[in-house]
Amino acid sequence: MNKLLEERLALLGWHYTASRIDDIVENASNNNVSYFDFLDTVVLREWENREAGLLAKRIQRSKLPYTKTIHDFDFSFQPSVSEQRVKETLTCRFISNGENRILLGPPCVGKTHLAISFALEALTQGFKTLFLTAEEMVAECRKAESKGTLTRLINRWSRPDLIILDEVGYFPFDELTANVFFQVVSKRYEHGAMILTSNKSFIEWGKVFGDDVLATAILDRLLHHSVTFNIKGDSYRMKEKKKAGIFPAAPLN
Ligand code: ADP
Ligand code: MG
Repeated sequence: MNKLLEERLALLGWHYTASRIDDIVENASNNNVSYFDFLDTVVLREWENREAGLLAKRIQRSKLPYTKTIHDFDFSFQPSVSEQRVKETLTCRFISNGENRILLGPPCVGKTHLAISFALEALTQGFKTLFLTAEEMVAECRKAESKGTLTRLINRWSRPDLIILDEVGYFPFDELTANVFFQVVSKRYEHGAMILTSNKSFIEWGKVFGDDVLATAILDRLLHHSVTFNIKGDSYRMKEKKKAGIFPAAPLN
C-alpha cells in the first residue's frame, strides 16, 4: 500500500491508523462505506485508541496494586454497603468537590476492593489519582527525610486530584509520618479528594497517630466533607474458603 501515506499518518501521530491503513481501506471498499462514514470511523478508532493508551498510562502512574471493578463486587454478600452511596461515589462528583470517602471495617470485607473500584472510575474519567498504603507512606517519609526531600514529598501527595490511602491503622504511624499525614490532609482540605481505608474506628485513631490532639485535627479536616462507609460483615475470603470446603461452615443451632 501507500508507504508515503503511512509515514505521513505516523508523522501526524496517527499511529493506530498508520499501522492498520491497509485493512481499514480494504474493509471500507468491501463494505461500500460512504466517505463520511469512512472518515468518521477512522477518526473514532484513532481517538479511542489514544484514550485507551492514556488511561493505561494513568493507571500505571496511579500505582494501583491491581484492578477490580464494582461489577466484581457482590452487594448481596455485604448488605452494610449502601449500593446507592457507592453509585454516588462512582459519579466522581466528590473529587471535583474535594470531598473524602472513608471505608471502615474488619479485614476482608471489601474496603480495598471498593477503594480500587472508585480509583479506576476516577482514572477513567481523567482524574490524576495516586494509590498508596500506610506502610508505603511510612517508608517514603523515612526515605525523603534522609534525603532531605520531605517538602517535595508532601507536595507530590498534595497534587493529585484523588489520593487513596489504604490500610490506615494496621500499625501505628511514627511521629514523622503522622506529621506528614497531617500536612497532606491540611493541604488537600476542601480541594483535593481522599479515600481512606481503615480497620480502626475513629476513636482508635489517637493510637494510630500516636497523638490524640493530632488525630482530632486530622479527623476534623477529613470528616468535614466526607462520607463514611461503615462495613460490618463477614470476611469474603472466609466465605470463599467455606464454599471450597477448606473451613467447615458454622454448625446450625
Ligand atoms: P479489605 O480491604 O477489607 O481487607 P479486600 O477488599 O482486600 O478486603 O477483599 C479481600 C478479597 O475479597 C478481595 O479479593 C476482594 O476482591 C474480595 N471481596 C471482598 N468483598 C467482596 C464482595 N462483597 N464481593 C466480591 N468480592 C469481594
Ligand atoms: Mg485492604
